[in-house]
Amino acid sequence: METKLYDLSKDYAAGIRAGAQELCRGNLVIFPTETVYGIGADATNAEAVAKIYAAKGRPSNNPLIAHIWDMSQVEEIACDISPLAWRLMRKFWPGPFTIVLKSRGVLPKIVSGGLDTIAIRMPASQAARDLLKESGKIVVAPSANISGLPSTTTAQQCLDDFNGKVPLILDGGPSSVGLESTVCSMTGEIPMLLRPGGVTLEMLEEEAGIVEVSYAVLHALQPGEKAESPGMLYKHYSPKAKVCIIEGNRKAIAKTINSMYDIGVKMGKNPCVFCMQDRIDQYLPRHVHSMGQSPEEVAKNLFAALREADKAKIDLIYFEGIEHTGIGLAIANRIIRAAGFDVVNADKEEEIEKHIACMHG
Ligand code: AMP
Ligand code: MG
Repeated sequence: METKLYDLSKDYAAGIRAGAQELCRGNLVIFPTETVYGIGADATNAEAVAKIYAAKGRPSNNPLIAHIWDMSQVEEIACDISPLAWRLMRKFWPGPFTIVLKSRGVLPKIVSGGLDTIAIRMPASQAARDLLKESGKIVVAPSANISGLPSTTTAQQCLDDFNGKVPLILDGGPSSVGLESTVCSMTGEIPMLLRPGGVTLEMLEEEAGIVEVSYAVLHALQPGEKAESPGMLYKHYSPKAKVCIIEGNRKAIAKTINSMYDIGVKMGKNPCVFCMQDRIDQYLPRHVHSMGQSPEEVAKNLFAALREADKAKIDLIYFEGIEHTGIGLAIANRIIRAAGFDVVNADKEEEIEKHIACMHG
């Protein structure tokens, strides 16, 4: 299959029209959103939706998010919606906010992976909303990456993963948030944060008062433990390089990363340190990658940096731990998974020793 690429900065109307046509024909379209790029299909067409799971290699019990462009579409697919749920939708839409509601059961079962709930989002990206509107379809779209790899935030990264596997990619430039949407369940009385994102926990709390945070946001689930959000179960966002997060006090972090890095080099590894711009001096002359000057920049750069590390044949990434406030909680949620939950506290000698022993193994 030939993959066509439309640059929306040059050919907006033609690109949106071509995308809408493909969706209506039951084909996949990769399109830009403010969070990450999405790989979309007509939500009402089970065969089209099955193509998403096949192209990504996504486990069939990991449900998809339905994308809408108008508030009136919520009640077409969801029911039992509380006043607070409506308030959150009005406050955070269009934007990086996904709400999980009770499903009306009108969409094919494959969309929700067999659950009786449905995740819904209205994207802020104008191109995404124009595409949805032009097609007239509710579009299910997970992140446009091969399952398990870091999500994509540019059209080129989408091409790297899906060239020859989808008919059309719409290039809308780099995603502005850089991390997937916040997922919040409103099937109970109290909102439950399932996945942190651009709409932060603090923003949700300001609107809703109490917000529960799913245990899986920052912890590995043990076999048999229930996942409120099936997507949290899987290995995710992972580059080929081994990622390790170092937390603790700032001074101890630098000392620990530098000594681990030097051991890595002696073992013949090609390590790199990922940190904020103002921390680079702590690591020079070692190989350091600046993630940006603010947590928002880190969010925007994260997935591209993980993908570039693979291209540069880096095989060990030492990531400075990041504060879990604001967008920092979403960054932590992604890098903890990229690291396969390998988090070392630099203030605890035994954790450092354990990590070094693992490296030798
Ligand atoms: P992605 O579209 O790749 O960003 O993944 C969508 C995320 O939303 C995954 O973590 C899913 O597990 C989660 N999700 C989608 N639908 C539901 C649902 N009905 N209940 C709980 N989580 C959901
Ligand atoms: Mg994803």
